Amino acid sequence: MNAEKRSDDHSSLIRDAWEGLLDFTFPRVCVLCRESCDDALCSKCFSSFPKLTPPLCPRCSRMVSNELQGSLCSDCRAIKNPQLHCAIAPWGYDGEIKTAIHHLKFDGRKRVGEVLGKSLGEYLKKYPHLKRNVQLIIPVPLHWLRRWERGYNQSEILARHVSLSMEVPLGIDALIRKRLTHASYKLHIEERRRNMSGAFEVRDAEAIRGKVVMLVDDIITTMTTLEECAKVLKNAGAKRVYAVALARD
Ligand SMILES: [Zn+2]
Ligand SMILES: [Zn+2]
Repeated sequence: MNAEKRSDDHSSLIRDAWEGLLDFTFPRVCVLCRESCDDALCSKCFSSFPKLTPPLCPRCSRMVSNELQGSLCSDCRAIKNPQLHCAIAPWGYDGEIKTAIHHLKFDGRKRVGEVLGKSLGEYLKKYPHLKRNVQLIIPVPLHWLRRWERGYNQSEILARHVSLSMEVPLGIDALIRKRLTHASYKLHIEERRRNMSGAFEVRDAEAIRGKVVMLVDDIITTMTTLEECAKVLKNAGAKRVYAVALARD
């Protein structure tokens, strides 16, 4: 175990103990409406999350106009030789799910990730072919510095629950982020690709070779991150790469 990982585990333990103490001291409330509930999110807030409604781009799940039903969106048409098979998500990145993901990423609310991860696992039951075919689940990795700042990788929390629900092994360290990248959503598609190029590296090629893999992320913003991860995984011998996220922006 390297020094980064040790200090990461240490800060994570302190945060877990703190969350445990808060649970003991204060009754549990929903992080969104502050009503008391058994978990970090209540069922009323859950049901207010905006579902993605068809027609959707079959590759990236972006909502498209009726005229485009069944065909790829303009961004997907612009990707030459795509490596990612397809990406799915239950919700649009809007309203209360946006606030919930913000709590998960920026307020240290790991428990929100656990609730959302479980529900993502439930959602995937609608896709039995994924359970039949996917052989390894991989969270989109954070750079170690970001992970250390946050104390955890939110995608890893989600991926853990997806792995439990689908009964498919989890490859936590199979893929790493070796380079810090800047937010790319304001960049042009070509600049985004350059920004992401070389950001990821396969650590455990043996675990990936010949496998159908599913990436797990929190939000699908531009597909550049998922596409770059898929490229690196395919180069390492992955047979096919799917992706799932909580929300599609
Ligand atoms: Zn609520
Ligand atoms: Zn698309």
